[in-house]
Amino acid sequence: MALDLTKYVASIPDYPEKGIIFRDISPLMADGEAYKQATAQIVQFARDKGVQMIVGPEARGFIVGCPVAYELGVGFAPARKKGKLPRETVKATYNLEYGTSELYMHKDAVKPGQHVLVTDDLLATGGTIGATIDLVEQLGGIVVGCAFIIELDALKGHEKIKDYDVLTLMHY
Ligand code: AMP
Repeated sequence: MALDLTKYVASIPDYPEKGIIFRDISPLMADGEAYKQATAQIVQFARDKGVQMIVGPEARGFIVGCPVAYELGVGFAPARKKGKLPRETVKATYNLEYGTSELYMHKDAVKPGQHVLVTDDLLATGGTIGATIDLVEQLGGIVVGCAFIIELDALKGHEKIKDYDVLTLMHY
């Protein structure tokens, strides 16, 4: 029987700043069955789209994307913060729900024309995933879908990625 994944999300008020409710997916990751169920749903979405590569932003995008890549038998490429990637990179800047940042990818991380799924744990304002999509597209990749464990509907991140096919497992 399917698990209720909302039971595996911890909600922490006023973290990391007053007024933010942090939605923590670590209980979901810590439970083998819950993690497997979440992964299986994303795998199904990706399989239907002929995904050839997964890209996720640091750090929880890796946690969501890597098991999906493993299950599909495709590669995973990280989008990372400044100073983490040792070879030639492309860069995208973005705004967070709290603060601003930059993301980078290696120039050869995605091949032109490759069908890419982008993954993250949570969609808030859409800045992070927007920058990740930007990086993939700078490299010539085709973003065929975006997958999240959680979406914070009030922050309207969905509007930033309305041209893309999105799978979200839980809405808050
Ligand atoms: P955004 O760029 O605004 O869509 O923010 C999404 C990114 O920030 C994701 O990588 C999340 O891990 C993190 N994030 C933003 N807001 C929250 C929140 N309320 N709870 C947990 N993670 C968050």
